[in-house]
Amino acid sequence: KKLGFAIVGLGKFAQEQMMPAFKDCKHARITALVSGSPDKAKKLATEYGVDTKNIYSYDNFDSIKDNPAVDVVYIVLPVGMHAEYTVRAAKAGKHVLTEKPMANTPEDCQKMIDACKKANVKLMVAYRAQYEPFNLEAIARIRKGELGKVMQITADHGRIVDPTGDKADTWRVQKKLAGGGSLMDLGIYSLNATRYLTGEEPVEVTALEMSDKADPRFKEVEDRIHFTLRFPSGILATCTSSYSTEGVKRYRVFGDKAWLDLDPATDYYEHKMVIGDKDGQQQPKIKEGNQFAAELDHMAECVLQNKTPKTPGEEGLKDVRLIMAIYEAARTGKKVKV
Ligand code: NAD
Repeated sequence: KKLGFAIVGLGKFAQEQMMPAFKDCKHARITALVSGSPDKAKKLATEYGVDTKNIYSYDNFDSIKDNPAVDVVYIVLPVGMHAEYTVRAAKAGKHVLTEKPMANTPEDCQKMIDACKKANVKLMVAYRAQYEPFNLEAIARIRKGELGKVMQITADHGRIVDPTGDKADTWRVQKKLAGGGSLMDLGIYSLNATRYLTGEEPVEVTALEMSDKADPRFKEVEDRIHFTLRFPSGILATCTSSYSTEGVKRYRVFGDKAWLDLDPATDYYEHKMVIGDKDGQQQPKIKEGNQFAAELDHMAECVLQNKTPKTPGEEGLKDVRLIMAIYEAARTGKKVKV
């Protein structure tokens, strides 16, 4: 059975990555579109075979509650709008998949969790890397002990944010819509990876931030932020996040027997794993998979089988709490216990 998904926000990521991925889904299909632009919505409805009576605006979105063709609402709006649309979708009795980061603040994340609990609907955060084959292989190899005891991790995520050249970057430099800068948007991949790679929750963070306030991009949000995490078993992680350096999406896990490198680690396609030890390096053959379709199918399966998603609202909340601790550490220059 295929569940019906309503796509809320027909921007760059929705149009270029997520909507095309539905063709590879076993349990999910697009049945409704929510947009502020009727022309764009009509064009995409035709392209994806969506009945034009299932096109909603942001104003009449709440009437989606009367539409049995919609099971799941997938929110692909700027971060600062995730909480409002999650709460509205839950009130309409629809299950919710929301993009990362979950929301601007832990308080908003909690509101989203509470609203979905009250409405008895599922809530999942779209952490696509946790459905991506190379990342799953990395986790499996680490858990099997292939690296020996994990001692440290480095993770780097960055790209040049360009609000004048790319419309999708306009909201990314506005605090109200983005919640913050590179850490909210990209550093979260480093942060989330350290948690799924170790299977542990950090207990302590430190951080340094550097933003050129003369650069109009960084009037409201941060550019570069470096943070370190200490995990209960003693693992240390060093992460960087940037809006002013060429694209990077990588991590390396260092064990006492071997290291594992994923570069790129969290791209859309074409990941690469290298494992090294004292005898040399090898590049394991791993089959690429459609992480977007896997994520959408997981959401649908959780609804169909009444299961809790692997990346529920609580997972999104954990990262947003840690992000706030990293900001505090950067602001105060002090270690923050979490
Ligand atoms: P985008 O700007 O291209 O898309 C946002 C959409 O929201 C646009 O269609 C825009 O018209 C609409 N919108 C409605 N009200 C708006 C308002 N008040 N201000 C601005 N836009 C408004 O951005 P995007 O890159 O597609 O990002 C959308 C979401 O997807 C974000 O939550 C982002 O973090 C997430 N994202 C996730 C990934 C991933 O790999 N998982 C990648 C890119 C983006």
